[in-house]
Amino acid sequence: MKPLIKNFLVVTLIFLFIASLFSLYSTGGKTAQRVGLESLLASLDEGNVESIAVEGNDLKITLKDGTAQVAKKEPGESFSDLVKNYSLPAEKLKGVKIEVRDESGTRYWLGAVLPFVLPFLLIGVFIYFMLRSVQGANSRAMMFGQSQAKEFSRDTKARVSFKDVAGVKEAKEELKEVVEFLRHPKKFLDLGARIPRGVLLLGSPGTGKTLLARATAGEANVPFLHISGSEFVEMFVGVGASRVRDLFKRAKKNSPCIIFIDEIDAVGRRRGAGLGGSHDEREQTLNQILVEMDGFDQTTNVIVMAATNRPDVLDPALLRPGRFDRQVVLDEPDIKDREAILKVHARQKPLGKEVSLRRIAESTPGFSGADLANILNEAAILAARRNKKIIDMAELQDSILKVMLGPERKSRVLTDKEKKITAFHEGGHALVSHFLPHADPVQKISIIARGRAGGYTIKLPLEDKHLYTKSEYLEEISVLLAGHVTEKEIFGEVTTGATSDLRRATNLARRLVTDYGMSENLGPRTFGEKEELIFLGREIHEQRDYSEKVAEEIDKEITHIIDQAAHQAKGIIGRYRDLLEKTAVALIATETLDKEEFEKIVGKKPKEAA
Ligand code: ADP
Ligand code: MG
Ligand code: ZN
Repeated sequence: MKPLIKNFLVVTLIFLFIASLFSLYSTGGKTAQRVGLESLLASLDEGNVESIAVEGNDLKITLKDGTAQVAKKEPGESFSDLVKNYSLPAEKLKGVKIEVRDESGTRYWLGAVLPFVLPFLLIGVFIYFMLRSVQGANSRAMMFGQSQAKEFSRDTKARVSFKDVAGVKEAKEELKEVVEFLRHPKKFLDLGARIPRGVLLLGSPGTGKTLLARATAGEANVPFLHISGSEFVEMFVGVGASRVRDLFKRAKKNSPCIIFIDEIDAVGRRRGAGLGGSHDEREQTLNQILVEMDGFDQTTNVIVMAATNRPDVLDPALLRPGRFDRQVVLDEPDIKDREAILKVHARQKPLGKEVSLRRIAESTPGFSGADLANILNEAAILAARRNKKIIDMAELQDSILKVMLGPERKSRVLTDKEKKITAFHEGGHALVSHFLPHADPVQKISIIARGRAGGYTIKLPLEDKHLYTKSEYLEEISVLLAGHVTEKEIFGEVTTGATSDLRRATNLARRLVTDYGMSENLGPRTFGEKEELIFLGREIHEQRDYSEKVAEEIDKEITHIIDQAAHQAKGIIGRYRDLLEKTAVALIATETLDKEEFEKIVGKKPKEAA
């Protein structure tokens, strides 16, 4: 659109220019006075005329006093006819210089030809500009095939180094080797070592894969070509492959450097499972990546890094030696790492004196690096909104809840009845969690709606856990069911508030039986082969590798586990009904109970032996 408007403007301007030239010419530069024929004849009669020039139908008169005049005669009539017609005595013309000129060259041609030529000229100019803009679009289409990689060169401000990445010690150790390769390739080549070409970073979302890749480039002080796997996939066939070619060409030119393909699973999924055109396109792109990586010779100092959180879906060809043979795993941060990550992100934030990042780290098991960065950011925003100059523990704690459960919804008004039901429901969760030996201690109970939950009970493990036992899972199911059981015990019927609790309990029970082999009756085996249909990227298809009869037994077993867990919850609630009521009353009064307040009502959590 824009170039069209521009062209139109240019054409108009040219036209205006020509028109003004034309009009300038036709007035002959200095302005001559227009007079009638009778005035000319009068002047002749009086003998005032110096000279007359006949030019076509124009008579250009110069008077003796120097004034210039123009008169028009009738077309087709000559000047001498004119003189005769007005019967001007011949002697009056004596001494007047009369000159008959052809209509002047340019003037004639402009007058005669321009009206015909100008439209063609304008059309020609217009077409010319049209063609040019079309060509522009064409060449832009050709640029499609160029890689869109963003390049971070050495000296940008955004440069990060290993000290900006907290935790992930093993990963950093592995990548230090890569930095060495980039810095002193000769050292390795002299010993006949083959420099690795591909490094694959594996880890769940937010564990710092992208950050670590950039830090590697920063540490080695080399350019960093960053592209996301999805950027290879475009509407047009062949674009992905051509972008790959272009990317590697650019990299070779910039060597030594790092190519970073983020979210490589977008193009690197197992081949041969696709069902349509776009999948062929993806496969071509993947093939091109493989070809380019094979095409590096020993002296090219380019290292390809890639990141994914789905190593299971990657094409095996990508993982072959000579391609992404180095695999670096980024673990979820443990408590020490979480503290370190918090420290990195607290660097430029004014924290209150009583803030203990250790305590924040303790209460955020399972949080990723990105979550932790987010907590500090949210806390800073909260502090600013509360017009504070420093960030205090209160803001940090609030932002943990916000990141975990979504924002508080204080505006959601509960009726007194709903409040009572929610208080008992959450109290039930808390109580069962408190009295079951393997369940985690309760940190906070609240009946303020947050995110999609009507109320919440937060319980935290004392330490980071990696393995779970069957009894822990069974008690977890009991805690999940406790809200439902309490509602039934106290009010005689249940509400919709327990829906998501029930779903989670049922899913956990199913996994216990089908994935973890924890069922006594069905034995230590898994049931069902989870297969992924690639175009949806989700587990939607489960291949049954068991009989109809076993399916029935699985169902029975799940029901059995749920029944047992509900029974256990019911027992605790029956035994400690007075404590439950006290908790609920306290919740209705204050809406939120923290660990200390809750323990004042129910006492310290009994030790495991009890
Ligand atoms: P991924 O690519 O693994 O999904 P990112 O590298 O994009 O995760 O991390 C997102 C953000 O989380 C980073 O920009 C950084 O602020 C923070 N972060 C994650 N891990 C760490 C870490 N180990 N140290 C410091 N910050 C981290
Ligand atoms: Mg990332
Ligand atoms: Zn609940």
